[in-house]
Amino acid sequence: MSARILIVDDLFPNVKLLETKLSLEYFDVLAAMNGPDALAICEKGLCDLVLLDVMMPGMDGFEVCTRLKNNPATAHLPVVMVTALDQPADRLRGLDVGADDFLTKPIDDVALFARVRNLLRLKAVTDELRSRALASRDFGIVDPFAVATAETGHGASILLVEDRASSAGRLAGALERHHAVTIEADPHAALARAMKDPFDLVLVSLALEGYDGLRLCSQLRSLDSARAMPVMMIADEHDRDRVIRGLDFGVHDYLMRPVDRNELVARVRTQMRRRRFSDTLRSAVQTSMELAVTDGLTGLHNRRYLDSHLGALFDEAARRNRPVAALMLDIDRFKAINDTHGHEAGDEVLRAFAARIRTHTRGVDIVARYGGEEVVIILPDAETEEAHLIAERIRERVEAMPFAIQRDSRSVSVTVSIGVAWRRREDTGPADMLKRADLALYQAKRSGRNRVEATAA
Ligand code: GH3
Ligand code: MG
Ligand code: MG
Repeated sequence: MSARILIVDDLFPNVKLLETKLSLEYFDVLAAMNGPDALAICEKGLCDLVLLDVMMPGMDGFEVCTRLKNNPATAHLPVVMVTALDQPADRLRGLDVGADDFLTKPIDDVALFARVRNLLRLKAVTDELRSRALASRDFGIVDPFAVATAETGHGASILLVEDRASSAGRLAGALERHHAVTIEADPHAALARAMKDPFDLVLVSLALEGYDGLRLCSQLRSLDSARAMPVMMIADEHDRDRVIRGLDFGVHDYLMRPVDRNELVARVRTQMRRRRFSDTLRSAVQTSMELAVTDGLTGLHNRRYLDSHLGALFDEAARRNRPVAALMLDIDRFKAINDTHGHEAGDEVLRAFAARIRTHTRGVDIVARYGGEEVVIILPDAETEEAHLIAERIRERVEAMPFAIQRDSRSVSVTVSIGVAWRRREDTGPADMLKRADLALYQAKRSGRNRVEATAA
């Protein structure tokens, strides 16, 4: 898919010029000639990157960038600010409002394409996570988008690879107010360290004595453990070509010497915010995947999990001609517990019941809440005798000790009935086995409850 780039500039010739350049490189180009139009386009999700002019009448580029970065719906969009002159003050202000990079007019084509491609590649990583996170809005307590927007970007552990002591001291001095900095002069040692320690970011001087700093950047990028670890280059004016090459193979950002302290601080913060944005999203996606297969009350797997895993487990057992047992558990007269002690107490019993069952099952077993007070346990590889024993042990353990309710102030005796069934050769799927377990359970209830019954294996 070709990326869509939004050009924001109040002067038509500027828009036209950029549009021509970008179209020739097969980017899709959109244009907005003022801030409010640009915000509207971004909010509708119509673009992947914004090239933003600083000087515009009405709402200027800083204001547009501030709004984009503070809106959870648009904060992930990379913003490249386009400044008229190389104004250090403008760059700083831009970084302060969250701009991801800068271009100076007249725009140099090579720099333009290197930055645009680099930012789009970084964005592709978070896009995937972002759409998965959006698809499952059920994150539990935290909203990752709000968390990401509020992220300060401080408190990073940074590895600085620089063999000139004075320069290292100056760079570290600028960063130490908000971050922990480790200085390493030897590139080989730096690589070994980065493999071992979980640094949040690495800064590499391209002027290392007797070693190609760009090579180190590439090695750092390909370190498996450093999946998303941002790498930044410190370059001299004559390194421009190497900087472009670095950006092309995935180095995240660079700074030119003499390094402006404030720009260094701001760029590091931008990298950290982006990195943590993807970390937050990643763990939110993870959590929501877990929530989707977990029963909220008992912490057991839910029926969805059972349905999606049992088929494969069953087929595998059939293929290898191995036994599989299913236990269908149903608490006896559970309605009476609710009626006597309240629904809340019923919930307490269910939670404790689940916990007690879990201590009698193995990691390979599937334990899932099947319905209100029904639990299904799947025992892979369990022969007749063994499944019987496990069912009987669970029944005993439930009966043996009353369940504490109402914050330990009372207790209630509980019993459980269990139906057991095994996979049969003629079964067309696990539903056949579960059906027999259910029949056996029904039999246990009819024969007086607090019993284990099995269908003939
Ligand atoms: P039996 O011995 O025949 O199984 O009797 P029972 O009362 O256990 O069975 P019945 O199916 O009549 O009632 C089950 C009750 O479980 C009814 C329902 O209100 C209650 N229940 C279902 N889910 C929950 C829950 O999440 N929390 C609580 N507290 N009660 C629940
Ligand atoms: Mg019941
Ligand atoms: Mg029931």
